[in-house]
Amino acid sequence: MRWIVRAAILVVAASLSVQAWASSPQSIPASAASPTQTETKAPVTILVSIDGFRADYLDRGVTPNLSALAAAGISSAMRPSYPSKTFPNHWTLVTGLRPDRTGIVANKMLDASRPGDTFTMASDDPFWWNAAEPIWVTAEKAGVRTATAFWPGSNVAWGGERSKDWPNPITGGTRPEDWLQFNQALTDRQRVDSVIDWLRRPAETRPRFVTLYFDEVDTAGHEYGPDDQRTTDAVANVDKAIGRLREELAKLGQPANLVIVADHGMAAISQDRLIVLDRFSNSDDYDVVEDGVYASINPKAGKEAMVEKALLGAHGPHLTCYRKAEVPERLHYGRNPRVPAILCLPDAGWTVVVHPPKHKVEGGAHGYDNDAPEMRALFIASGPAIKPLGRIPTFDNVDVAPLLRDLIGLAPGQGLDGDDAPFRGALVK
Ligand SMILES: [Zn+2]
Repeated sequence: MRWIVRAAILVVAASLSVQAWASSPQSIPASAASPTQTETKAPVTILVSIDGFRADYLDRGVTPNLSALAAAGISSAMRPSYPSKTFPNHWTLVTGLRPDRTGIVANKMLDASRPGDTFTMASDDPFWWNAAEPIWVTAEKAGVRTATAFWPGSNVAWGGERSKDWPNPITGGTRPEDWLQFNQALTDRQRVDSVIDWLRRPAETRPRFVTLYFDEVDTAGHEYGPDDQRTTDAVANVDKAIGRLREELAKLGQPANLVIVADHGMAAISQDRLIVLDRFSNSDDYDVVEDGVYASINPKAGKEAMVEKALLGAHGPHLTCYRKAEVPERLHYGRNPRVPAILCLPDAGWTVVVHPPKHKVEGGAHGYDNDAPEMRALFIASGPAIKPLGRIPTFDNVDVAPLLRDLIGLAPGQGLDGDDAPFRGALVK
């Protein structure tokens, strides 16, 4: 499932989008916002997500800009959190908590306390998001100005509440000082321009923490698979956008600590690696919340024992179904009430569906075991606060938010699932 299948939602969100753009700084002439020559600028922290950028794409010889940043700083093949899906991992990256604790446990979710409601990647009701505070809210509370050129959840009035009375407006809550409604039609260049225009402002209104998001590598990976030339071409395109970001920052004289991450990798999928659940279970006995890279299932009332008998355990060498409380401990998944009752987990590269698929299974997918090599994600940190130590060992992506706190100058987080241990030796005091 991609974040980008949202054309219909974008129409609904058009007025918001216009509002976001109207309040964006693009209309500010450069001369009016130019800093004085004597100003010594404080570094900005820029968190960049290249969705679906598998760690080894960096070795394809098409990323001169990312490779230069890696050489001048640190890089790693980062382990995502389970499930290795887009929304759970983007929220983990900015909170330092695993999906089981953030409440963003999947790209599509149900919640028994909200019967009839479904979370999708277009949901901006704080109800779904409020369990874990994102770093831009922590920063804003500490008086650090933030701006987001897309990030899942950055359009949510975090901490706010939807009124029970029609037309159910959301009251309260905190957003980044500047944010953009997600719009896939915005080119890489326009996204970089938004960030640069924010940084062109005078010091009083210039953000000190910024996010930037690119989706084209994920889109190509899904459509063509991770090994296709067109996916490599998408990698090269985003690298060019990173190059332009570096050039524009240099022209502004704006020092920046760049933290460049992916939410997950990508595995090739095939019609030859397909498991269909209704061949050995009665699909009338259960509801399927999601299937594909895993199947998440709620038995219908009174059918629990029958469904468990049919599904629990191994089905051949490539699929095992578990009660949610019994999934392998290393996945740290299944305690959250939003996780459905039964999870069927295939090996990476396998597809598990309830009914035979209408379309040929091909291309790429992610969402598998977060320890699968194909799910490893890009990580680079580079800038004045980072020593040039090169490759560092694989770490869990719950450690990124603590690193961001260090770079922004926020107090260490309490009770997080990660810490800054992987980076301590690389941080300039
Ligand atoms: Zn993704």
